[in-house]
Amino acid sequence: MRRERYEVRGVVQGVGFRPFVYRLALEEGLAGSIGNDTGGVTIEVEGPAERVEAFRRRLEAEAPPLSRIDSVAVRETPATGETGFHIIASEASGHVSTGIPADAATCADCLRELLDPNDRRYRYPFLNCTNCGPRYTITRRIPYDRPQTSMARFTMCVACQAEYDDPTNRRFHAQPNACPVCGPRVWLVASDGVEIPSDDPVTAAIDRLMAGEIMAIKGIGGFHLAVDATNEFAVMRLRDRKHRYGKPLAVMARDLEAARELCVITPEEEELLLTVARPIVLAPKRTGCGIAPSVAPGIPWLGVFLPYAPLQHLLFADSRVKALVMTSANLSEEPIAINNDEALARLKHIADAFLMHDREILQRCDDSVMALVDGAPQLIRRARGFVPLGVPLPFDSPPLLAVGGHLKNVFTLARGRFAYQSQHLGDLENLTGLEFFREALAHLMQTFEIEPEAAVHDLHPGYLSTSWAKEWAAERNLPLIAVQHHHAHIAACMAEHGIKGPAIGLSLDGTGYGMDGKIWGGEVLVCRLDGPAPGHFERFAHLEYVPMPGGEAAIREPWRMALGHLHHAGFDVESPEVLALLGAKPQEVRVLERMIERELNTPLTSSCGRLFDAVAAVVLGRGVVDYEAQAAIELEGCALGEGDEPALREYMPELCEAEEGAATEVVLRTGNLWKAILNDLQCGVPAGRIAARFHAGIAEGYINAAANARIETGINVVAMSGGCLHNRRLARLLRAGLEEEGFQVFQHRKVSPGDGGLSYGQAAVAAAILTTRP
Ligand SMILES: [Zn+2]
Ligand SMILES: [Zn+2]
Ligand SMILES: [Zn+2]
Repeated sequence: MRRERYEVRGVVQGVGFRPFVYRLALEEGLAGSIGNDTGGVTIEVEGPAERVEAFRRRLEAEAPPLSRIDSVAVRETPATGETGFHIIASEASGHVSTGIPADAATCADCLRELLDPNDRRYRYPFLNCTNCGPRYTITRRIPYDRPQTSMARFTMCVACQAEYDDPTNRRFHAQPNACPVCGPRVWLVASDGVEIPSDDPVTAAIDRLMAGEIMAIKGIGGFHLAVDATNEFAVMRLRDRKHRYGKPLAVMARDLEAARELCVITPEEEELLLTVARPIVLAPKRTGCGIAPSVAPGIPWLGVFLPYAPLQHLLFADSRVKALVMTSANLSEEPIAINNDEALARLKHIADAFLMHDREILQRCDDSVMALVDGAPQLIRRARGFVPLGVPLPFDSPPLLAVGGHLKNVFTLARGRFAYQSQHLGDLENLTGLEFFREALAHLMQTFEIEPEAAVHDLHPGYLSTSWAKEWAAERNLPLIAVQHHHAHIAACMAEHGIKGPAIGLSLDGTGYGMDGKIWGGEVLVCRLDGPAPGHFERFAHLEYVPMPGGEAAIREPWRMALGHLHHAGFDVESPEVLALLGAKPQEVRVLERMIERELNTPLTSSCGRLFDAVAAVVLGRGVVDYEAQAAIELEGCALGEGDEPALREYMPELCEAEEGAATEVVLRTGNLWKAILNDLQCGVPAGRIAARFHAGIAEGYINAAANARIETGINVVAMSGGCLHNRRLARLLRAGLEEEGFQVFQHRKVSPGDGGLSYGQAAVAAAILTTRP
């Protein structure tokens, strides 16, 4: 007889772990018990030694699909002669370190019941089980138990309660368990807020969608605005009403087969589409796929995803529905609407009708976005299905809060070996954004019982997140740490891969505040998280500084950036040829030239993203953008069909030394590159070819810079980060070229390379500093 005690850590609550262990113990004929504790679960088993061993093996090998075991501590204890196996009720004390599970897509068993006319949950939009259903978005605090969720107000009927209490049932302790008798309901509401009576609100909603109407549909992490994706007129109406013109809209397809009709999908992308997080996946559009042209104008990809909630499956169960635009219900970058009243107030001028329900959403959570970058999945927007799962840190962190940046904000709470990133919060430009930030922070602090002992922010003095962090830390008398933007990007990539350093960092990004007060964004850094100066970095090289006439205005109007570059490269920007390329009037150009010469509202920037913008302005005529990075995305898109151009010498930025005040800096000069582009344009080289050459040239320039950094430092590890690493062509060319040079190359997988990953990097730098401080 042998008795063992296991302490299992990880995501093991609310994921069917206890019934799984119960079944396992019965199968192996073992006695003992299992209970949730605030750290995870504790199991004791007793029986013949070989059965106990088999149990331990199967515990990890057969764990339920939504669980994640981080560690199992095993201890042998004296046998007690216990008989039978018991499940012990939850305790709610001690330090919380177990994760709340993330929201998970409807499982195959539930889907079968949903569509089975003989099942008691036939067409019931809120069915779920321990293997699927909402989690994070309906949970107020842990431990994850029904009274702590928005299902608390629904009392289970006798049949549901029996399932909930039966350890052999798939719905044993499925906290959101419900049925048509006892659970939430769905109904239809007109834009004036009055309920539209209907026996079958789902079919009524489909009728409206098929007639070209805009429906606001309550989902898991918020409302979606939905229209028939094949109806150009409906899509245009949605764009007009949402004031969102260029930005691509995501499309939900019935199933994998339907998605394949819309896009060219690789087996790896299929896998991504089918993960329980059901993210939006970017894949090349098929020509003639029938999707309305305004869904994703100007780019060859489509963001496609599959239904993940029973209500969505019901919409697609109707054969009329082929593909639906399903976009977050908000105005531009405002937070997604979640409450019925809030949705009505904010969306009544956009939606023709609302499909609502009474299961309250407690946490706003957009859909996550992923793409296959260089053969492996990369998170572009980390939200539903991933939050609040922790991302490991390479060392122990004191409890701290890193507030992130400005656009596409995400904050991070760190403690011990884990960093908990918030969902994508959108832009922190106004009070609505800040309100969402505060709300999500309060929730995550409560959920994990983390009381930060330090606050970390971006170096930019003008960010709302910076001033908020300063105030917040002052109120609590906490130390503050500022981390340079591009340093944080590289630290995020290093920490994600457990690299403490040193590493050469390629931080290719939009814009961030530099140590010299200039706007950085095309940086070659040397970083380390450990050693004598932890959390320290040096700037090895950068794209040469060029004027950014009008500052922020140059981000919205890439033609200004092009003018800044061409002026800097010594072109006569008032010549008819250049004027034509810029699509600008002579007097506009003269005004900007004067601004540059007098250094009026014209910061200097080394941004790589802005260089892409400038090239897109000249090559594609994309002078003004509707959304951030549109020009750069279109430039990547236009090169999609092109093979890999060998890097032409003329297109490669030259590495040189430059006097910068009293110091000498290493810069990547872009003058030749501009000559080559203008020359190719004049010779009638197609835009796609020029775009391909430009990508190859930029990659080659940075590979060369990294090789030089290696000569000087002896470092052979490269970490790549920054918004430009969303560019799949660039990421692939960089990795291939660097590996050919013998570098060990790392890029983001679990954390976004864009500003969504910034706070994770800030947390890593701060943790490195704080843990080694005497
Ligand atoms: Zn299920
Ligand atoms: Zn029920
Ligand atoms: Zn950035």
